[in-house]
Amino acid sequence: MFDLPELTVIAAQMNDVLPGLVVAAGTIGVSPHRFVWYDREPEEFAALTAGLRVGRAWAEGKWLFVPLEPGRVLLIGEWGGRIRYHADAADLPAKRHLDLTFTTGAALSATTQMWGGVHLVEAGREREVKYVKEMRPTPLDERFDRAYFGELVAAAGEDGRRSVKGLLTQEQLIPGLGNAIAQDIMARARLHPRRPLSTLDEVQLEGLYEAITETVRAVIAAGGRSDERDLFGHPGGYARLMDARAVGRPCVTCGTPVEKISYLGGACYFCPACQT
Ligand SMILES: [Zn+2]
Repeated sequence: MFDLPELTVIAAQMNDVLPGLVVAAGTIGVSPHRFVWYDREPEEFAALTAGLRVGRAWAEGKWLFVPLEPGRVLLIGEWGGRIRYHADAADLPAKRHLDLTFTTGAALSATTQMWGGVHLVEAGREREVKYVKEMRPTPLDERFDRAYFGELVAAAGEDGRRSVKGLLTQEQLIPGLGNAIAQDIMARARLHPRRPLSTLDEVQLEGLYEAITETVRAVIAAGGRSDERDLFGHPGGYARLMDARAVGRPCVTCGTPVEKISYLGGACYFCPACQT
């Protein structure tokens, strides 16, 4: 699943190769998939995209926005798979859920192994799409400052039950984070996944805030996680601190073997000594 850092990297890579390209044909529904949600029929998508010119893309939360000018924005959201540029459209994968071929002969494809949404909306209305509309500030948003974070944690932890992992992975409280990046954030913040938010002191809150913003920026700087691939098919350079391979290995800080638990719909990898 692409998180905010991977999509930020892909958007930047798109902006190196796509702006100015003119769509020869836009295609959806090549490979039927129960869990890809389209807001257009294939014929409509083809008719609306032909002849449009690609603008500068951006990422927000788990959504990628690609302007098709004039007048449209293509949204690819909650995507777990591949988003690829092909210098030659002959290299399009057989299995794909979206593709744009360009008049130059190049192409863009998107294929999901999990689920995803593809929307083609009028420019200016991209923020009206469900999930985008309600999106809270992401860790890259200037509104995501320490004061905002304090209020977010206070509200999320009000019932006394919400945990650190819950803050990082539930209900898009912090848009663009997922289970994978959450592991490293919790390791950096030295907090146990089950730790109730209501029990964090100021120093721990500060540490959690720093861990979120630093981890997101570190993954972007490295070109994404090494278990995901970028627009050109290359794995990212960010090796996770805490993943399945870390289980049983000594914690890099204290040497205690890393443990695994299942919690809140996914595995957690953590150091039982450092993360409390
Ligand atoms: Zn440790």
